[in-house]
Amino acid sequence: MTTAKVLLTGINGYIGSHILDVLLSHGLSVRGVVRSETKATQVRSDFPDAGSRLDFAIVPDITGPGAYDNALRESDPPIRYIIHTASPLNYSSGKTVADFVEPAVQGTLEILKATASHGHDVARVVITGSFSAIGNPVDMQGGGKTYTSHDWNPVTVEQINAENPRLAYWASKTLAERAAWDFMKQAAPAFDIAVLNPPMVHGPLRHSVKSIKELNVTTNNIWRDFLSVTPDAPLPAEWVHADIDVRDLADAHYRALFSSASANRRYLVTRGRICNQEIADILRESLPEARDRIPLGKPGSSSFPPNAFDVDGGEAVADLGLTFRSAAETFHDLGKQLLEIHRRSEGS
Ligand code: NDP
Repeated sequence: MTTAKVLLTGINGYIGSHILDVLLSHGLSVRGVVRSETKATQVRSDFPDAGSRLDFAIVPDITGPGAYDNALRESDPPIRYIIHTASPLNYSSGKTVADFVEPAVQGTLEILKATASHGHDVARVVITGSFSAIGNPVDMQGGGKTYTSHDWNPVTVEQINAENPRLAYWASKTLAERAAWDFMKQAAPAFDIAVLNPPMVHGPLRHSVKSIKELNVTTNNIWRDFLSVTPDAPLPAEWVHADIDVRDLADAHYRALFSSASANRRYLVTRGRICNQEIADILRESLPEARDRIPLGKPGSSSFPPNAFDVDGGEAVADLGLTFRSAAETFHDLGKQLLEIHRRSEGS
């Protein structure tokens, strides 16, 4: 049992709550960063057994100068590691480019600056990046390209288009990660960083969600496109056809804290490609009671576009010793839970 403590931003989110689960299960203490007391209370109620191994720092604005200074002061045991997952990804209507880019970039820079100034015991900061900083959203397939940890989204600031909030999200993750690497180069701090860049993250929720309206963006996409339609509905268009189970991603964050091979490395973390027909087939097979809500498509066929891109996450597997759940387990567990949330919130 180790007494090290981890500072975790985005702790109340979809991925953050799974990371918290893994950290606690390995005996670590955690300080969660949230925007309000209400969010801290919610996390505590989701993890009633955490006891004194869980405390919180309230940071209402992660972009402000010195935003994280207090979060890093006074901790017993001392904070040895940081996992930074907080970043906006809700591209609902009314969002501006600044709504994505500023919190992503400034939030990342502020945590690195605070660590350099006040995190005297911190050995490593693990940042939740994204495939959005790897893939090219304006030529996604790249003629059958295989994306690896070494690829960068070539998006330029000029390309960021307020009319296309999805591109703003992609830009925000790219610019935030670039800012992190630039900081490390210029400031040469005593700690190192590791960046995990997952494509689509799927799987059950660990935090409590009372209704479908509260789902995070990517989980809501599965609900909207695969579990609340009819069998004759078209399959959604392919976009990022590669994924990882959220529980495996949380485990990857834990492993990235300690892996000596991961110092100042970035990783594409994925179990591989999956097309929407496969997701529909798995859901129809594993949740027969819900078949009338799931698109049929052409069962057993491929819905990958011509020259579909591929992904190679081999470096993460080698350095972090990752293993992956099957897609059947991921979508069964998620689908079952979403149907249950729907039933409960509908009161039926
Ligand atoms: P959630 O929306 O569930 O969680 C996002 C977290 O970030 C929440 O804790 C949220 O806090 C916090 N956050 C968002 N905007 C801000 C802001 N402006 N200021 C402070 N905190 C903020 O999303 P996920 O858990 O899915 O995403 C977590 C990370 O994973 C992000 O960095 C995202 O880019 C990355 N990612 C996610 C993928 C996916 O498929 N879900 C794929 C690839 C990467 P609050 O509740 O206060 O808003």
